[in-house]
Amino acid sequence: RVLLEVNHLSKHFQLGPNQTLRAVDDVSFHIWQGETLGLVGESGCGKSTVGRTLLQLYKPTSGEIRFAGERVSDMTERKGHKAYTSQMQMIFQDPYSSLNPRMTVTEIISEGLMIHRPNLAKKERKEQVSALLELVGLSSRQANRYPHEFSGGQRQRIGIARALAVEPSFIVADEPIAALDVSIQAQIVNLLMDLQRQKQLTYLFIAHDLSMVKHISDRIAVMYLGQLVELAASDELYARPLHPYTEALLSAIPLPDPVQEQSRERIVLQGEIPNPLNPPSGCRFHTRCPKAFDICAKEIPSFAEVLPQHYVKCHLYGEKGE
Ligand code: SF4
Ligand code: MG
Repeated sequence: RVLLEVNHLSKHFQLGPNQTLRAVDDVSFHIWQGETLGLVGESGCGKSTVGRTLLQLYKPTSGEIRFAGERVSDMTERKGHKAYTSQMQMIFQDPYSSLNPRMTVTEIISEGLMIHRPNLAKKERKEQVSALLELVGLSSRQANRYPHEFSGGQRQRIGIARALAVEPSFIVADEPIAALDVSIQAQIVNLLMDLQRQKQLTYLFIAHDLSMVKHISDRIAVMYLGQLVELAASDELYARPLHPYTEALLSAIPLPDPVQEQSRERIVLQGEIPNPLNPPSGCRFHTRCPKAFDICAKEIPSFAEVLPQHYVKCHLYGEKGE
């Protein structure tokens, strides 16, 4: 079952009279209930904006979002909207700045509980907080401490407990491990995967490189300058990347085997990421693409299903590239 459907979603920010930032530009995808969709791209490519727009933190400029079949943008503030937003939560990249330093862990986690279950008596709420702390691998004895008394990994666990307090079905995790020590990253990923099984959660897992999403994602979408350029099942994407940008991202991941690592060819992209205020014509990747050919600068490739369930936005795979 499709939980979330995104059709031709755009989110533009007007920065000045003649300056429009097309942060997200005509993006379509869906997320199956219970899966993790990884969303990968360099910083500034629009992946956080996609996540925030799904959570209704931003209003879409155009396009539609459907949640469990219902068109979210049609919901009025009062009817349905609150039920919808409490179904969705965000886990933030920076567990240092996303937790209020003046609130205890109990207060932080209780905030959501009070909105979601206002009739809960104080004692029950305390029990809920304890249960949530245990669920994310912390102790209820730590409930009255403040965020600064915890390590980065523990703070991310608090952020996860806070998100789970309102019993969401869908979570956007925006680079939840990027700020953590490598040794802690796997623990948090494993925790998220355990919680997903226990609570039947659906995730959009945002990351800036492909190594971080491999383990957790069922499918992966690759984003470049506000657009999706490739989407496929994780195994498929790693085994058979089709888009030249995905190939470059994959070639940047170090291989565990040193012999393979030595003999492997690294694709180094030329040039800087173009200014998103003035994206290149045609294929937005053409200024950096090692495989660009004549029509790439002129015509916009379509996002097409080139292999079963494997989508790519590149002229190499259209009639024009053959
Ligand atoms: Fe490269 Fe052309 Fe494909 Fe764009 S359309 S990724 S420039 S080959
Ligand atoms: Mg971001």
